[in-house]
Amino acid sequence: MARDDFTQKTKTELSLRAAHFCSNPNCLRLTAGPRSDDLRGLSTGHAAHICAASARGPRFDTNQSVDERKSAANGLWLCRECGDMIDKDVNGFTKETLTAWKLGHETMIAEVRQKGWSESIELLRSGQMAPGLAKEVISLLEDRRTFWAIFDAEFPDRVRMSLDDLRHELTRLRSRCASDSPLDKIIVALGRTVRHFFDTVEQFDLQTLKCDGNDPNWLAFETALKVLRKSVGYQIGKLAASYQITLPGEFAEFLPR
Ligand SMILES: [Zn+2]
Repeated sequence: MARDDFTQKTKTELSLRAAHFCSNPNCLRLTAGPRSDDLRGLSTGHAAHICAASARGPRFDTNQSVDERKSAANGLWLCRECGDMIDKDVNGFTKETLTAWKLGHETMIAEVRQKGWSESIELLRSGQMAPGLAKEVISLLEDRRTFWAIFDAEFPDRVRMSLDDLRHELTRLRSRCASDSPLDKIIVALGRTVRHFFDTVEQFDLQTLKCDGNDPNWLAFETALKVLRKSVGYQIGKLAASYQITLPGEFAEFLPR
């Protein structure tokens, strides 16, 4: 059967773009190094096809031209074990997942290149931790009624306490995340959204404010809460997509489409 394999040049480009690290964010194994017994180098990496090189292969896409199939855009650099894993468990590793791995990894490598050694190690390590931290961010928000409950049921002061607590939790998570990494930027943006909400409602006495459709203060509060939910929802959607996190049904419903 015809195989549209990568050329050696394309394989080399893929390995360089990944800096010889496996692009699976949960693996990140280094796939190049010195041989111990002579002066040659050693590679244990693998230029993997996102959509297969031949018709019976995993994730084969009939719509791809031969050139597209052989292009570096259709490949990612993995260690041998991860290369094996994605081809044997096709449903577990979709085209979307692999494309996200590649994009995330190359973005991280581009950032690592511009920093010194110690910061690079920190970034690499945080890249490995990022999927877990991203899940923590999402469950932080999932636990908060402020983002769910129908507006009438919300007591403004309870919203304030919940968001205040959220701010602290986000700061705590940020301390475990390399500064300026993609995840860090999302956490910062979430913090900014919450701060913007506080700036908007600080003129009201939240301890006495009650649900009242004729009270302009209540209406302003309600609008600010809607804006907050929409903005947080948008960021959560982005976060879930970047780290392939499936949101629970009820939680997903409030996300803007
Ligand atoms: Zn790997």
